Amino acid sequence: MTLKPPPLRNDCFALPAGVHWTPVDEALALLRERLHPVTEVETVALQDALDRVLAEEVTARRSNPPLPNSAVDGYGFAGGLAEGEHFIPLMEGRAAAGLAFAGVVPQGQAIRILTGASLPDGVDTVILEEDVTTDGTAIACHGPLRQGANARKAGEDVSAGDVILMEGRRLTPADLALVSATGGDALEVRKPLRVGVLSTGDELVEAGDGAKPGQIFDANRPMLLAMAARMGYVPVDLGRVVDDRALLRARLDEAAHTVDVILTSGGASAGDEDHMSALLRESGAMQEWRIAIKPGRPLALGMWNGVPVFGLPGNPVAALVCSLVFARPAMDLLAGRGWSAPQGFQVPAGFSKRKKPGRREYLRARMRDGRVEVFRSEGSGRISGLSWAEGLVELGDGADDIRDGDSVTFFPYASFGV
Ligand code: AMP
Ligand code: MG
Repeated sequence: MTLKPPPLRNDCFALPAGVHWTPVDEALALLRERLHPVTEVETVALQDALDRVLAEEVTARRSNPPLPNSAVDGYGFAGGLAEGEHFIPLMEGRAAAGLAFAGVVPQGQAIRILTGASLPDGVDTVILEEDVTTDGTAIACHGPLRQGANARKAGEDVSAGDVILMEGRRLTPADLALVSATGGDALEVRKPLRVGVLSTGDELVEAGDGAKPGQIFDANRPMLLAMAARMGYVPVDLGRVVDDRALLRARLDEAAHTVDVILTSGGASAGDEDHMSALLRESGAMQEWRIAIKPGRPLALGMWNGVPVFGLPGNPVAALVCSLVFARPAMDLLAGRGWSAPQGFQVPAGFSKRKKPGRREYLRARMRDGRVEVFRSEGSGRISGLSWAEGLVELGDGADDIRDGDSVTFFPYASFGV
């Protein structure tokens, strides 16, 4: 009898002795160092630039406002008013937005002025119409009013030549307002990153198809495609491949021509049917990453004909967590957005948990009544918890003993762009 049973190891998340597990921060630093923008630059009209990534620094061509103007509807004159009653003769004519008053307003006289109108010569102060009575020839009002009240200075918002937007910025509706207001029209932006998503596994069937016992519906592909879309990228459905190395190789070959980055799920460990990691290893550019993160055991990272491939774990929870933690910043870099850490918030825990040292942990979580609560199970196949959650709680690499009310770090899904 030469067969000897191994010692019982009931804790499937125990770190194998003697193997180096890469800390999350080290893995992120490597990605940051090795990846660069891959998307092409093109010029688009302002109205087509929403959600695009800026490939240039944008400077204001014109000041905002370009000329001093009125912030309210009222009456304009020179200088402030002392405390007490005032009677000011009213000039004929008026100044309106886009219809400047061409003349000069003499000292001691007032003119009707509307919001947005350039201040006529001789006007630096405006009184609200609600604070005035008039018979059409004079206005009566009460001081005090400070000189310059209700008037906007030229360039008080932005001066011509100011940098208004940085390269790498994903353009928001407000950004388009700013560019337009300061005289911009066309912008240099990057083409959107094309993100291919592929599922692997003999057990997978398509949502909507019939499933035999033992088969499961593909959950990762719809999730990862939707995630890419939410992040502002172009999701490219690369379909599903059974656990067959030749088929998988052919699919990757094809995909490498059409997408900028590939996210696969399943088959990333070192098992018999783990063809994803085997192929990446064969291709010579494989980084087998044993990252000290939970959930998310195997993460295979490699290049396929020059295209970065993230071989994500098959478990949907691990697939999403690894995507948000590793693929998100990596895709941002590839897309020209630069590197960014997600915005986390220190919030009181609405749970207690004892954590072992060695791995950074992410718990499915959501905010309720000012506390962050976590999903009842940490099982990495529990897809319902992903959907229940509205973000993730991050627990540091070391040991921890979290009690109700302790401060923990919460990342809303929105902090990851999803
Ligand atoms: P693997 O990484 O291929 O060993 O898969 C780990 C676990 O995730 C297995 O239980 C798989 O059945 C499951 N899995 C793999 N891919 C998917 C998928 N696309 N949707 C749902 N579950 C999956
Ligand atoms: Mg599999």
